Order: sequence, then C-alpha cells, then structure tokens
Amino acid sequence: MSIRIDVDKCIGCFKCIKVCPGSLIYSNKSRQAYIKYEKDCWGCTACVKECEFGAIHYYLGADIGGNGAYLYTSQNSDELKWNIVDKNGTKVVVNTNRKESNKY
Ligand code: SF4
Ligand code: SF4
Repeated sequence: MSIRIDVDKCIGCFKCIKVCPGSLIYSNKSRQAYIKYEKDCWGCTACVKECEFGAIHYYLGADIGGNGAYLYTSQNSDELKWNIVDKNGTKVVVNTNRKESNKY
C-alpha cells in the first residue's frame, strides 16, 4: 500500500508532513507535498485523514483485492468521509464521526 499526492489539489497546508510518523512527506519549491520513497509508506492513513482537499490518494494493496482501487477523505465539520473508488470509477462513501474515533 502506498499513497500518491495530486499536486494540482495540494494547497500546501503541510498537515500531512506534520503527521507522517515516518517523515516520508516533503514539500517542493512550489509548496506542494510529495512522498519521496513510496515503498517506505506502511499505510497508516494519518496523512489521508488530515488532507482536507482530497489530494492524497491511498492505494489499496493487491493482498486485499485493491486492483487499482484507492481511497481519499473529504470532510464536513465533525464528519470524515472515506471515499473508496474502484478501478472502474465507482465510488462508495463511508461516513465516520471524528468525535467518536476513540470509541472502539
Ligand atoms: S494535507 Fe493535502 S493539501 Fe495539505 S500539504 Fe498535504 S497533500 Fe497538500
Ligand atoms: S500513510 Fe502513514 S506512513 Fe504513509 S505517507 Fe501517509 S502518514 Fe506516512
């Protein structure tokens, strides 16, 4: 699993850089985020959850049937939406409440 960052959507807030536990995300001269060594990403999703602009796509591994599918998040107040897109472009949205994230 790994992430890809869409530089066209990145606004340079650097939240992803701050939360990555492996310090894998950097910024270029245009203040756009990028990941240097994709293979080093262990898929914790911390950066995906922080990106309010849907710029970070998290690719699901073949071992769980990813086959080109990816997910990204979008946010609305306390609601965090997990948008899962399969290889045909079909999207499923799972809503979670940030305030309840420590309940489980
Ligand atoms: S959190 Fe999203 S918008 Fe902010 S720097 Fe990272 S990729 Fe860019
Ligand atoms: S998924 Fe986790 S390890 Fe991978 S780049 Fe994002 S924050 Fe870093």
